[in-house]
Amino acid sequence: MLRNLFILVLIGTVFIPLFSVSSSARDSSGQNFGTKSISTNAVSMDAAPSWLTQSRVEAVTDRIQQKLEWTVRKIKVLWFYSDVEFQRSHSLGPNAIAVTSRRGEVLTVLMGPSVTTKEFDEVFGHELTHVIVSQKYKGAIPAWFEEGLANHYGGHPKVDYKWLSKQPSIADVKTLAHPMRGSVQDIRYRYKASQALAEMLDKKCQLENLVRLSVKRKMEDYIITYCEIPDLNKAFKAWVSKNAER
Ligand SMILES: [Zn+2]
Repeated sequence: MLRNLFILVLIGTVFIPLFSVSSSARDSSGQNFGTKSISTNAVSMDAAPSWLTQSRVEAVTDRIQQKLEWTVRKIKVLWFYSDVEFQRSHSLGPNAIAVTSRRGEVLTVLMGPSVTTKEFDEVFGHELTHVIVSQKYKGAIPAWFEEGLANHYGGHPKVDYKWLSKQPSIADVKTLAHPMRGSVQDIRYRYKASQALAEMLDKKCQLENLVRLSVKRKMEDYIITYCEIPDLNKAFKAWVSKNAER
C-alpha cells in the first residue's frame, strides 16, 4: 500500500489536533474499536485500537529509545478512525498516515485510520524517531536525512536499489527536505532516497556513532570528518548504482 510510505513529522507548526472517534468506527472484521487507553512511561494513548497492547507499545518504544540513547519525555498519541477527521487534524494532505506535531512543548503523535496491526510497529517506530530527534537533537539532524533515519530505525523494508536507480536522479541530496511536495511518485522517491542515505551512512561509518556525535552539533560536519565523505552527492550516486547492480 503506497500510502504506508508517507509518514511525516510536522514540528513547530501550531495547530489544534481535532479528536473525534465516531461510535460507528469499525475495523475490517466489523468490530468496534478505538476505546482503549494505554499509558506507559513514554506515552499516553487514548482511543487505541483493540488489537494494540501496552507491552507492544513498550517494545517499540524500547527499541527506538535504545537506538537513539534517549528516554522519551512523555508524549500524547491520538488515534483517528475517520479519514476526514484525520486530515482535519494536520496540514499534510491525504498521503500522510501518521504525523508528529508540536504544540508548544508538547509533542503529539496523530495515528491515522490506515494504521493497522500489520504496520503499527514500523509506523510508531518511525514517529518515535521524530519525537526523539525533536527532544534530543534539536536541529542537529538535517531535514533531508530525518525521514530516512525514521524509516531506517522504524524498521521499514530495505530500499529497493534497482527501483531507486531508475528514478530521475537528484543533483543535491539536500533537496530531499520537504518530502511531501509534488506527486505521489516524487514523495515516494524522497522517502526512499533519504532511507538509502541512512543505509549508506550505516555501512560507511556506523549510523549510531554518527548520530551520537551529532548531539548539539551539525551532523553534516561529521559526515565529512568522521565518515570521511567529502562529497555526499557523489558518494550517494555511487552507493545507489553499486547496490542496484547486485
Ligand atoms: Zn516521518
